[in-house]
Amino acid sequence: MIDLHTHTSISDGTLSPTELVRAAQEKHLEAVAVTDHDIVDGLPEALAAGREIGLLVIPGVEISADSRAGSMHILGYFIDYRDASFRRALQQLRQYRNERNPKIVAKLNQLGMALSYEEVKAKAGRGAVGRPHFAQVLVEKGYVRSTQEAFDKYLKAGAPAYVDKKRLAPAEAIELIHRAGGLAVMAHPVRLKVRDEQDLAALIQEVVDCGLDGIEAYYSDHSRELTRWLLDMARRFDLLVFGGSDFHGDHKPHIDLGVGRGDLAVPVELLKPIERRLGRSLGDVDGR
Ligand code: AMP
Ligand code: ZN
Ligand code: FE
Ligand code: FE
Repeated sequence: MIDLHTHTSISDGTLSPTELVRAAQEKHLEAVAVTDHDIVDGLPEALAAGREIGLLVIPGVEISADSRAGSMHILGYFIDYRDASFRRALQQLRQYRNERNPKIVAKLNQLGMALSYEEVKAKAGRGAVGRPHFAQVLVEKGYVRSTQEAFDKYLKAGAPAYVDKKRLAPAEAIELIHRAGGLAVMAHPVRLKVRDEQDLAALIQEVVDCGLDGIEAYYSDHSRELTRWLLDMARRFDLLVFGGSDFHGDHKPHIDLGVGRGDLAVPVELLKPIERRLGRSLGDVDGR
């Protein structure tokens, strides 16, 4: 089995890149992709750890885009994370976060909760600040009991302390990933706000027309039926199939590496068509 969707402490996970790669080996995974939000700074460390213990580590990133079905997350795989213009673009996306985050603090303060942005930033360490870091501070201060309660009561879209951030269009996110030599993949379609299967199929078609390369069919929150349906869509649109847990460590304790909520199983065979599309062996990935 493999896991192609994980977050480290460089974004809003809690394991360092090295710890994540070691955890993947302990779980006997055959490959793990690191897909932090808007940042690739954890990749050199993760790839080095993979080389050291002999585990295939795939460089990735996760970018949020704006779509008619709400926030659409696009995963980028095999991106050249050293590419200067790619790194600048990600820096700009993190800047949108920095513009949003103090506004979330102000709303939480108005709601009667005492916290500062400094405290939230401290949770992110050297990485990108995300809403799970706000949740962590709220839990530690006793305002809520869990990360999930923090999202449900305050942080999720439509909740009282929610603040939107600027996002790319799906076509722009895909182009960014392509220019960095990567494959662009639609993440967790289950999160998209669509009317029905037909509407989701139409949306996938629209994003395929923007150059989409693959789709995340296996995911912690996908039912067997949805996964099967997405595998059908992948055949229909000639999309590569991806899958992963969206592991965030202690920020999402109910999601475990590799197995998601317990029954996720992403087959290693997915790597073969990906390898064929890339036109090279993944065994000798050194970041690219
Ligand atoms: P941000 O990128 O700062 O907007 O935060 C996005 C992250 O927050 C996602 O990757 C999830 O880890 C988490 N998240 C978003 N919505 C929810 C939700 N409704 N419940 C729990 N976690 C969420
Ligand atoms: Zn996240
Ligand atoms: Fe996501
Ligand atoms: Fe994710």
